[in-house]
Amino acid sequence: MMQKKNKGSLEVVCGPMFSGKSDELIRRMRRAKIAKQRVIVFKHRIDNRYAVSHVASHDGTTIEAHAVNSVQEIQALVQQGFYDVLGFDEVQFFPSDIVPLICAYVEEGKRVVAAGLDLDFRGEPFGSMPILLAMADTVHKLQAICSICGQEAHFTQRLVNGNPAKYDEPIILVGAQEAYQARCRNCYSIDKLPMPIKDGQKQNCI
Ligand SMILES: [Zn+2]
Repeated sequence: MMQKKNKGSLEVVCGPMFSGKSDELIRRMRRAKIAKQRVIVFKHRIDNRYAVSHVASHDGTTIEAHAVNSVQEIQALVQQGFYDVLGFDEVQFFPSDIVPLICAYVEEGKRVVAAGLDLDFRGEPFGSMPILLAMADTVHKLQAICSICGQEAHFTQRLVNGNPAKYDEPIILVGAQEAYQARCRNCYSIDKLPMPIKDGQKQNCI
């Protein structure tokens, strides 16, 4: 009789900047290693905050990671080893074909842990995050501390020259002083209401 192969799982860790997503990803990867699981971690090459070959939390804890640009690079690296656990940091930066790839890995038995920003600075769902959140087995939505009032925060406030960024402000502003803060809903400030559903997106029904 053929033995039934176990499927894997998808865990998503999300939240604003400074909420400890990378710490949580690192913690889960370390625990998997202690359990003698074979672990590989990816980050998008766009994120060069710290060492290219590591995921780093804001408090300086690090774990080895592969900085990649495309799903083809991920596939090539995964094929080279027999991994049980795949970790993704800043998964919102990956192109949308990351979703079918993750689903395929879960189907073939891998445990996938994906960490990323659920909202962009406009307060709108970021990249493929809404899809990954919907498809996940478990979701851990972390909160940061509001840098204005100290309450729980789930927004990322973008500041340009010290003022809240405008909705339509370009993502890259040459010569501007940019900064990000975690803020609560009361202290978060943007000049337009978020538009979570864009024109042309398909409508779902039950
Ligand atoms: Zn606040």
